[in-house]
Amino acid sequence: MLDKSSYDLVIIGAGPIGLACGIAAQKKGLNYIIVEKGVLVNSLYNFPENMTFFSTSELLEIGEVPFVSDRDKPTRKESLEYYRRVLETYKLNVSLYTAVEKMTPRDDGYEIVTGKGDVFTKAVIVSTGFYDIPRELNVPGAELPKVKYFYDSPHPYVDQHVVVIGAANSACDVALETYYKGAKVTMVVRGSEINSRTKYWIKPNIENRIKEGSINAHFNSEVVDITESEVAIKTPEGLVTIENDFVLAMIGYKPNYKLFENLNLPIGSDDFKTPIYNEETLETPLKNVFIAGVAAGGLKTSRFFIENTRVHAEMIMDHLVTEL
Ligand SMILES: Cc1cc2nc3c(=O)[nH]c(=O)nc-3n(C[C@H](O)[C@H](O)[C@H](O)COP(=O)(O)OP(=O)(O)OC[C@H]3O[C@@H](n4cnc5c(N)ncnc54)[C@H](O)[C@@H]3O)c2cc1C
Repeated sequence: MLDKSSYDLVIIGAGPIGLACGIAAQKKGLNYIIVEKGVLVNSLYNFPENMTFFSTSELLEIGEVPFVSDRDKPTRKESLEYYRRVLETYKLNVSLYTAVEKMTPRDDGYEIVTGKGDVFTKAVIVSTGFYDIPRELNVPGAELPKVKYFYDSPHPYVDQHVVVIGAANSACDVALETYYKGAKVTMVVRGSEINSRTKYWIKPNIENRIKEGSINAHFNSEVVDITESEVAIKTPEGLVTIENDFVLAMIGYKPNYKLFENLNLPIGSDDFKTPIYNEETLETPLKNVFIAGVAAGGLKTSRFFIENTRVHAEMIMDHLVTEL
């Protein structure tokens, strides 16, 4: 059960932005709780084991707690330590392993159904991120256990034939890391080159590995069929079938639209299925229900980061305190 049955504010998701909202609410003296379906900063915890952020550590800071790293860009492991320190510093009110399932409007607020009981709240912040649901690979064999949508570490792929689908940061990182640890890597890229937004320290490395033939790559190509032992690729030269043990589909993630539906959050009809909200206050058409963090970008996942959404906490709180 949660510690109370009624709150001023329920924040859904204990990612960096949910935590930033908790800090801002605490500073305003609100009776709030952050409910999180998994562990603290669950998405970061599930990022690849050896992942390095592309942001410098000060751009990932929240609540003015210094993020000290001994390197240019901090690692996932350092970030877990950092956000744990943030939790401790502010003694934030968080309920972990508490999934929000549904939200129903009531007089003066909302009834929230969670896996650990129901609560009433006057206001809600939805900061649920986008790292739970991978974009689908709509080809025969996409459901085979050898097809992975989340990558953890290179070890399972040592001495294996690996196909990496995609050409953005994650795909390039995964192709390089598995190659360096001894996998035989083939990249399958829909466009004609490595994504132009790939970080400047990754792009030349992957391009040079492809040029020298260490990593095989098919551009303007698509995987069309996956079996237990092979992958068929449609290339400009015709259909190519290669030996294969694992497919790492690094083609991105999307917000949980089923959850948005259960929360009754209206979604725009644009190509990015962007949630509808006021750009200045982040309030959705539901009174005192706000969207924060990368979830606000809908399918525009490559434009929304911790860096540029951590300001959401203050934007919401400035408006919310005048409403409660
Ligand atoms: C590989 C990778 C590298 C990245 N690197 C950077 C970087 O260098 N710099 C940068 O600024 N950004 C980076 N990003 C983007 C950004 O860091 C992350 O998406 C970040 O986690 C966003 O923070 P958030 O709080 O909005 O969402 P999240 O961190 O995704 O937090 C959302 C939380 O909501 C929880 N949740 C979801 N559904 C429910 C529910 N029903 N009930 C309760 N809780 C729920 C989730 O478990 C999760 O903990 C990266 C993203 C990826 C995928």
